[in-house]
Amino acid sequence: MITVIAIDALEYALVQEFDMKNLKQEYYGKTDISEFSQPRTMVLWSSFMTGKNMEEEILAKGDKEMWNTRIPLEDTFFSKFDNPVVIDLPGYNYDLEQHKREREIMKQFFSTEDPEEKNKIRTEYNNLSFEHHRTVKEKFLKALEEDHDFVLGYFSVADVIGHLNFGNKLLMKMIYRDLDDIASKAKGDVIILSDHGMKPVGMFGDHSEYGFWSTNFKDLGTPRITDFAKVIREIA
Ligand SMILES: [Zn+2]
Repeated sequence: MITVIAIDALEYALVQEFDMKNLKQEYYGKTDISEFSQPRTMVLWSSFMTGKNMEEEILAKGDKEMWNTRIPLEDTFFSKFDNPVVIDLPGYNYDLEQHKREREIMKQFFSTEDPEEKNKIRTEYNNLSFEHHRTVKEKFLKALEEDHDFVLGYFSVADVIGHLNFGNKLLMKMIYRDLDDIASKAKGDVIILSDHGMKPVGMFGDHSEYGFWSTNFKDLGTPRITDFAKVIREIA
């Protein structure tokens, strides 16, 4: 079995600082995403699953339509497997309704100046994200017990919560601990990958200019996100 844990905005510097051993595995490092003009989630995951730079194609859809991207199985490396399962990946089978609600609540957060109202909205935002995270985690752990040759679980919590809470180290550490716990359950050849990391902007977080990778089988150096399709095909 090959397991991929796809973690949005998992930050190399925080994995180091918190010393998350299961996320680091045997080999770990940063990815090179300098071929992209900006670290955009939808562009990066689409490029990961197809093994080619999808920036132009995704941006051509426009800001709104971009999030509705659904790349067909036959255009991804997942199709090389007999019985793959992919859980909640942007650009493939992501929960569009969840994402829409997150964006709406974030908009509300930035449209009020009242600190009390802001706190209330942030709590609602965080709860929505944590609830979704629990559902995805459950599906992922169940898939690991089934008869698949490829399991991919996508976790958005570090990105979604990070955007409004990155300055809250305690909360971020709690999230990284839970992701580390998920990593401890992975089976077979394991790749952990983020699209980009996150850097602090006051209390908030913004995407950083590199991603994180780790494996339990090979040192990949400083890979591009488009290299993983080939890496995974080689060990399949
Ligand atoms: Zn992202």
